[in-house]
Parts: sequence; C-alpha cells; structure tokens
Amino acid sequence: MLGIGDDCAIYRPRGSKEDLLFTTDLFLEDVHFRRSTHGAKDAGRVAMCRSLSDIAAMGGEPRFALVSLSVPGWADDRWVRSFFESLTSAASAAGAVLAGGDLATSEKLACDVTVCGAVPRGSALRRDGARPGHAIYVSGALGGSALGLQTGAGRAWKRHVNPEPRLALGRYLRSKAGASAAMDISDGLSLDLQRLCLASGVAADITDPPVFLGASPEQALHGGEEYELVFTVPAEARIPKHYQGLALTRIGQITDGPAGLIRHNGKTLAARGHDHFQDSCQRM
Ligand SMILES: [Mg+2]
Repeated sequence: MLGIGDDCAIYRPRGSKEDLLFTTDLFLEDVHFRRSTHGAKDAGRVAMCRSLSDIAAMGGEPRFALVSLSVPGWADDRWVRSFFESLTSAASAAGAVLAGGDLATSEKLACDVTVCGAVPRGSALRRDGARPGHAIYVSGALGGSALGLQTGAGRAWKRHVNPEPRLALGRYLRSKAGASAAMDISDGLSLDLQRLCLASGVAADITDPPVFLGASPEQALHGGEEYELVFTVPAEARIPKHYQGLALTRIGQITDGPAGLIRHNGKTLAARGHDHFQDSCQRM
C-alpha cells in the first residue's frame, strides 16, 4: 500500500482486516552510540526503541522484531547477553516478541532491527495527509536528547539513553484524535517537519516548540533522537493539553506555501537536523 518515504512501509495481506507495518533501522557503533558512554543495556534499549518509534508514528501495534547483530571483539558474552536482554525487554514492553535474526562478527558493533506492526485496515497515520489550515502539534519537550549528548550527564543524558516510543499516543492519534498526518522526530523537528510537508505538498508556519529544561531553542528545533511525535489535525479537531501525562503543544499550522517551506516566527527556517547523507535522502 505504501513504499519508501514514510516511517514504515504498509503491506495489506489479501482479505486481512489489518494492514502490516514494516520498519528497519541500523544502530552503529560510533555513529549512533559509543561503547565508552553507552552501557550494554542502554545500547540494546535504544536500538529497539528507534524502530518501535516508527511503528508509534503510524499509530501501530508492534507484533514482532527481527534483529541482526554483528559483534566486535571488545563485546564479551556478558555484554552481548545484557544487550539482548535489554533489547528484548523493550520489545516485550511494547507487546512485541523477538522472532529471529542473524549473528556475525565485525570490527565495530552493528545492529539492524526490523519491526513488524499492525493497524486496522486503511487507518495507518502517514506523512502525506497534512492540508492547509491543519494545526501542527508536538508531544513532550524537545532538545533533551541533544543536550544529553552534549553534556553526558543528568536528566538530559537519561533522556538520551531512555527514548520512549510514543505507542499509546500514536494509537490515540490514529483512532480517536482524527490526526491527518504524523511522524516521529528522529532527526530533528526542522528536518522531520520539512519531510512531512514535502510528503503532503504543503508548507508550515511554526513558533517555538516546548524546550526541555536546560536545552537551547536551537537544540529543540534541530536536535535529533527525540522520538516524540509531530502531528497535524484538521482545524476543528480538539486536542487535549496532555495525553497520559504527556504534553501536547500546538506549535503552528500548515499553509499552502511552497512544498517543504518551514517558517519559524515569520522567518524561513533552514532544516538542519541530522541527516547521514546531507541530502534529501529520507529515512524510514
Ligand atoms: Mg521515523
């Protein structure tokens, strides 16, 4: 039903009442984590949560995961066991089981996590449903993960190594709130909102997003690995200020300007989030 360019691909088995969601994410040593700062438990949790967050972004229910791991010489049995325990407990907390994978060795650790999820047929939240006049919201406060990466300490570091895939919120947005588009903020609000706008063929006007305590406005706008959701709803939709204790904040609205143009407090905002290839390559 949907291929490359959204948080998940959507596959509809013939005659099924459900659509299946598929996402895969690489987790690489010295790119997504460092062995000097991340313990085995942190690494396993983050590796799984990156993919679970993509299922959350489509309003899905995680079902199973396939995990391929390439183990470097420095990771002993205990490290690998602890990594897998943390990874599988993050999966089972989200209702998914580890159903298979592959093992190999390499110089640096590399882990690929594929997750399959499900939504009722035809109901997945996508990036391409935002229309002029729709309101733009974000969950939580932004910039904490970037601040944690910078300081390596305190609440911000905890935030960096404990991403919380917003699965309950995603399901609420899909089934109750009438959201028109959604995605998770993995590479920074400015870049990810631009991707949503490009997929929908629209522009956006935003103000300052809520900022994590101690983070800078820049970190909130451009910092990656938030795993909060950015979503849009038709103008008449009523969105509560909180959902299960998580703040939902209106940050602006969709406009009919040039596709992908983001205006922040009236000025054009350069998309400066994290992009491994520094071009328009879209992550899933
Ligand atoms: Mg995503």
